[in-house]
Amino acid sequence: MLKVENISKSYTDTQKRVDVLKGVSLTISAGENLAVVGPSGAGKSTLLHIAGGLDRPNEGKVLLNGQDLYRLADAERSAVRNATVGFVFQFYHLLGDLTALENVMLPLIVKGNAGARTREIEEKALQRLNDVGLGARADHKPNQLSGGEQQRVAVARALINDPALLLCDEPTGNLDSASGSAVIDLLFSLNARDRRTVVIVTHDEALARRATRIVRIRDGVLEN
Ligand code: ADP
Ligand code: MG
Repeated sequence: MLKVENISKSYTDTQKRVDVLKGVSLTISAGENLAVVGPSGAGKSTLLHIAGGLDRPNEGKVLLNGQDLYRLADAERSAVRNATVGFVFQFYHLLGDLTALENVMLPLIVKGNAGARTREIEEKALQRLNDVGLGARADHKPNQLSGGEQQRVAVARALINDPALLLCDEPTGNLDSASGSAVIDLLFSLNARDRRTVVIVTHDEALARRATRIVRIRDGVLEN
């Protein structure tokens, strides 16, 4: 499903070069659930962004369903990403002026879906909210929702294009343990029930131990 081959990534600021990823390789099979665990600053977010086609590596390649992501033109890469990958971030990134339903609809509206009618998009989005247990909150704005509910809305949004792969960056990092646990249950059910491949990046060892497979990263190097 996803193959990361010998990825390196550095940033150069005014003073010096920072090597964030130093030759990272990782193969993830379809249907896996995987935790990438490591301390803050280890390069987890950078790896996730590169793996999902959001950030170009300096060296190495990323094969997503056999397609060499960074050899594609930007528009093609975006199209592959939108069709295949859903992202969940620590801080939800919901738009405050929009309802939960509108936030979930947004990826399809932004895409300028010429053919699909708003009504169809709305029904699809409502179905996704139902899938994450928030159908009854569809008309609520983010500030009327708890953190855990906001993250579940973000998961529903990530699911709108029915992605085979979910990449989650510290999805519980901003949540208390009960609502964090509910979000993790949800993500694992998307793996177990829907056979989606789920990758969860976290610095939380206890959370990581719930995944079927754990990969450790430290100072830009995978430990196993
Ligand atoms: P993690 O998610 O494991 O906490 P990150 O991938 O966010 O780690 O960052 C790894 C290192 O790369 C950190 O030292 C961070 O400061 C540095 N870094 C990340 N993004 C940038 C950037 N855009 N410019 C410069 N340095 C960056
Ligand atoms: Mg991070």
